[in-house]
Amino acid sequence: MDASCASCWKQDGQYRCSDCFRSGLYCQDCCVSAHAALPFHSITQWNGRYFEKTTLQALGFVLHLGHGGSSCPQMSEEGYSGTELTVVDLDGIYIHTVAWCACTDPAERWKQLLRTRLYPASVQFPRTAFTFRLLNYFNMDILECDTSSASFMTKLRRLTNLYDPMNVPVSTMFVERCTDIYPQSTGSIPGVDEGINSVVLPRSPSHIWFCP
Ligand SMILES: [Zn+2]
Ligand SMILES: [Zn+2]
Ligand SMILES: [Zn+2]
Repeated sequence: MDASCASCWKQDGQYRCSDCFRSGLYCQDCCVSAHAALPFHSITQWNGRYFEKTTLQALGFVLHLGHGGSSCPQMSEEGYSGTELTVVDLDGIYIHTVAWCACTDPAERWKQLLRTRLYPASVQFPRTAFTFRLLNYFNMDILECDTSSASFMTKLRRLTNLYDPMNVPVSTMFVERCTDIYPQSTGSIPGVDEGINSVVLPRSPSHIWFCP
């Protein structure tokens, strides 16, 4: 396959996205920049014989937090190397290199995640987060389809890696926490009326909220 990047027309186009409305092949730089606000898309790379699954992280994508998706002005290139976040979304599980805000007095990391509609699995050391749209979808699945957390997690694992789902690095335990987050009753959800700070468990070893 010999094609130029559909965006810059300067480099070879090797990458395509399964989720973007725009079709076409893109170079690495254009593929990364086109996904600055679309971090949970599935990317494939032409390897000479077929389109092989790759990730935005492998292409050098960095998920910036604390400045509305833009990079922190105080962040150096070395500052975010090696910091990874596993994000569970509707159509799979993604691992991203994360650049946390490095300003003088930054918001706590769990707050930086919540402000981008990512629900952290831990307050103290968030390494896993769920998109809000996933939690809403899971809540509806429980209500209408009586889906168990184990089945839901298996589905997400298969969506991420059809051929080796059990090696996808997210525990069913996390999805079970989602069940706590979204009560199945129609009663009031803790934290909605009182504010989220009222339901943070400051001394709990699990450190999880009941409501995003
Ligand atoms: Zn390009
Ligand atoms: Zn895309
Ligand atoms: Zn900052």
